[in-house]
Amino acid sequence: MTTRIQARIAGRVQGVGFRPTVYRYATALGLGGFVRNDPEGVTLEVEGEAARVGDFFRQLTDEPPRQAEIAGIETRALPARGYDRFEVVESRPTGDAVFSIPPDLAICDDCLRELFDPRDRRFGYPFINCTNCGPRFTIICDLPYDRVHTTMAGFTMCPPCGQEYHAPADRRFHAQPDACGDCGPQLSMDLGAAVSLLQTGAILAIKSLGGFHLACDAFNAAAVATLRARKHRPHKPLALMFRDVATVRQSCRLSEAEEAELLSPARPIVLLRSATPTLQHAITPDFPSFGAFLPYTPLHHLLLQHFDALVMTSGNRAEEPIASDDAELPSVADAVLSHNRPIAHKCDDSVVRLVNGQRQMFRRARGFVPHPIRLATHTPHILAVGGELKNTFCLARDGQAFLSQHIGDLKEFRTWDYFTHEIAEWQRLMRVTPSVIAHDLHPAYRSTRYALAHPAETKLAVQHHHAHIASVLAEHGLHEPVIGVALDGTGYGPDGTIWGGEFLVADRAAYERVVHFKPYPLPGGDAAIQEPWRMAASVAICEGLPTDCPATIRHLIETGFHAPPTTSAGRLFDAVAALLGLCGTATYEGQAAIRLEAAADPAERGVEPFDLAAGVVDFGPTVRALVAGHDRGQPVGRLAARFHNTVAAAIRNVARQIRAARGLRVVALSGGVFQNERLLTTATAGLQEDGFTVFTNTRVPPNDGGLALGQAAVAAERMRRLCV
Ligand code: ZN
Ligand code: ZN
Ligand code: FE
Repeated sequence: MTTRIQARIAGRVQGVGFRPTVYRYATALGLGGFVRNDPEGVTLEVEGEAARVGDFFRQLTDEPPRQAEIAGIETRALPARGYDRFEVVESRPTGDAVFSIPPDLAICDDCLRELFDPRDRRFGYPFINCTNCGPRFTIICDLPYDRVHTTMAGFTMCPPCGQEYHAPADRRFHAQPDACGDCGPQLSMDLGAAVSLLQTGAILAIKSLGGFHLACDAFNAAAVATLRARKHRPHKPLALMFRDVATVRQSCRLSEAEEAELLSPARPIVLLRSATPTLQHAITPDFPSFGAFLPYTPLHHLLLQHFDALVMTSGNRAEEPIASDDAELPSVADAVLSHNRPIAHKCDDSVVRLVNGQRQMFRRARGFVPHPIRLATHTPHILAVGGELKNTFCLARDGQAFLSQHIGDLKEFRTWDYFTHEIAEWQRLMRVTPSVIAHDLHPAYRSTRYALAHPAETKLAVQHHHAHIASVLAEHGLHEPVIGVALDGTGYGPDGTIWGGEFLVADRAAYERVVHFKPYPLPGGDAAIQEPWRMAASVAICEGLPTDCPATIRHLIETGFHAPPTTSAGRLFDAVAALLGLCGTATYEGQAAIRLEAAADPAERGVEPFDLAAGVVDFGPTVRALVAGHDRGQPVGRLAARFHNTVAAAIRNVARQIRAARGLRVVALSGGVFQNERLLTTATAGLQEDGFTVFTNTRVPPNDGGLALGQAAVAAERMRRLCV
């Protein structure tokens, strides 16, 4: 019996070799029909003997292309049509429909084998790729995703490449960046020369997928020290690219889940515990863990043959965006290993960590962007502009939210340029004309100013910590009110003070501030972030503890002049770190809290007292006890651990109190402070022991890099309620 089935397949099915696989399966089974990309994914029809059609769908779902993720298959039976063959049909843009943009993919095993096979015509070619791997987002200038719309447009395929490109059964069928040494991009310098430079301790700028890395031999201490000095980065951990998993294991402790993450096609930087003290000091002086990753381009593989590990840090000046063009490179490198395939979108390496086997994102960019997150069944066109530091923005349409790559600190003018440029590019690519612009409540954020200066029917201000919690709700598809615990550095409160230690009852549309940390003056405003001793002085003075802080600062604290009150949890961690003598002045953001966490004795379970009354958590008693312990000569490790335990215990107590009053049993944890693993795991375990269901960010960062998703989720929900 002849059957004809039409199927619409949603998920990650474009730019991942889906159509050639469908073609192979269908033709092998002697089925007729077609396959085509469409705005929602892939549409196909197969016609033939019923049993074989069944075999086709079984095979497709059992063995989809490696990088594909099938989110759903919708099928319907149609009257037979008498297809005489199976065809791959060209995609046509239809109206304002969006074709999905695939993220960049690490080189696949097949291409890797060819790269090192002397008999292969692409042997040693640093830009080898196929439909299963290679650059995607970073080379896309327009849609649909065809070669003319990529930065490969300027390279004309040679006849052998063209043949592969047009053969439906070939691994390179419609592989847009397909190329070979005869027709494709070339390096700017000899690879052997680049290797010798690195071997002699030079610092090399290397052009990768989304921008430049600054590289040096990780085991050459002098080279690492030079790189740190030239980059003005004395302490911040450096990321290492290792040759393979075996060399990672020589330097780091590695779980199975971490190994899988390292090897995933997104090839993110994974934070791992160091196992070698010698390497540790140069790479990560403050903390026994650092970022490790594996080669993800053919060029990386060719280089890493000669090294166990290379330091590979973003090629940028301090807080500026990653350089993607030779002209933007800072004068840090001794030489530049560039190439002539332009980068359409700057895109940093993503940074993740596994906590309790779950992925936590620190920075979401290459490999994940622009994979969408579903918000609702329908949304208007929304632009959410995000925060000011660690900025990302978010576009939403047709119920999907597209969070941008990490943009950075908008106070830097080059980052600001990058922000405005990428928003314009994304709106064009995604065919989004926002009718709603969502922004932070903070009137002075540059992102807020952008929102207010650009036209849209509706502008929506979203409170910072509400957005953090909403990002968790959006990720996990939650709609009911939850207990939202938002702990971070700073966020603008509607009362004009600086919030950052907040317990909310929130759903996507609205929130209520139920409990917060006790406020302390923030002497000198943002200067206190670089100088944790200021916050230590503030807490000490407010708690009646002795301090030798300068009279000028004491004056600020006592009068509140230039010292706005803040409930910031991040600043409280800073203050405690400084009071315990761990960090008076920070050379990078979060250093004090990182040292405090690193110091914490893993075995210590004790807590210190704190007060909880009238909606305020007061850690005054905690700080007084810690300082007294420090004065008595108790080990800093024990005190640091007890502080973490106490904050976790407070979270648990407050959640229980809110549950008793409101009957809520779900807790969402977000905000940059939850990048502290000790706090996150202790708080989560305590809450679960009390019967709470705990949700955290796993697909976007808990820091301000996830804010835009939360803003978009709030905007989508408020607009929905307006419509019904
Ligand atoms: Zn490949
Ligand atoms: Zn070629
Ligand atoms: Fe925040």
